[in-house]
Amino acid sequence: MTASFQATEASRLRSLPKAEVHLHLEGCFDADTIARWARAEGVALPRAQEDLFKFSGLADFLGFLDLACGLAATPERLAQLSYGLAQRLTDNGTGYADVIVNPTHWHAWHGRLSAMLDAIDGGLRAAEQDGLTRVGLCVSLLRTQTADESIELVELLHAMRHPRVVALSVDGNEATAGRTGPRFAEAFRRAGQHGLRRTVHAGESSGPEGVWDAVNLLGADRIDHGVRAIEDPALVRMLAERQIPLGICPTSNLVLGVYPSIEQHPLERLRQAGVRVSVNTDDPALLDASLVGEYALCRQAFGWTDEVTRAVAQTSIDASFACADVKRELLDALQRW
Ligand SMILES: [Zn+2]
Repeated sequence: MTASFQATEASRLRSLPKAEVHLHLEGCFDADTIARWARAEGVALPRAQEDLFKFSGLADFLGFLDLACGLAATPERLAQLSYGLAQRLTDNGTGYADVIVNPTHWHAWHGRLSAMLDAIDGGLRAAEQDGLTRVGLCVSLLRTQTADESIELVELLHAMRHPRVVALSVDGNEATAGRTGPRFAEAFRRAGQHGLRRTVHAGESSGPEGVWDAVNLLGADRIDHGVRAIEDPALVRMLAERQIPLGICPTSNLVLGVYPSIEQHPLERLRQAGVRVSVNTDDPALLDASLVGEYALCRQAFGWTDEVTRAVAQTSIDASFACADVKRELLDALQRW
């Protein structure tokens, strides 16, 4: 592929009207910002700035998250991080994003969820005023939390009714946490009752059983990842029939070793089986991924035509928790692409 073809392809994909539905605020730190904050606080980085995101394993990664979230301890820094996220989305031509934020990672903000959400909201509002991408927040449980903690979070969100919050989410490693669907069923039931949407990480660090639980026990409107559904034909049929969308992150799955190569990634087989799929970046800064790059990767690996690309972008918009006006605006623009 020539450099000029790649540049043209990137600029076309940037102009593709689309939403992103699976990315984490915790995955959007950039190395410059971390280094600047660390210097200001006299905190040592674990390694040189240019190698900051070269993780040696899960423990190293979690240690970094502690450090980075710990540095974002003031409202100004949290707002700055959120503004930077909206800028990153705009650079990719993303019209709207659902962003997952998991309060358990943000030690400096424990017990102050309302203030934390206000700080994030401040950065996102400033970004919107500057014409950058609009964002809704999916507040996330961690897989290792208890049933009581999960219900407490949902009731707190209900009491706050923060206009920036669109959904309840659950993330974290299911391979180590084991089966947790039953534990969170009551929290997700209440979330639905309170008018929150529901999005569930499953079928990445868990197999098909995690996706079944996400649908049957947690009432998921959308599955984050869900790729390992491919291992169970009955599950693939159910997802297609009920049109439950998957927020798939190809580069993340490759970097973390869920699949050895894009050719062996099940995204295209799921799509051809009638499952609604979108492509997403998961932790773009940490994985060095971009949404334009994810679309380009799939077009090249799976031979997606413009028509298929448009259909996937449409799924990203349909599957998002954006309000009806934003969806209509993006879908209209998509027709003209
Ligand atoms: Zn994720």
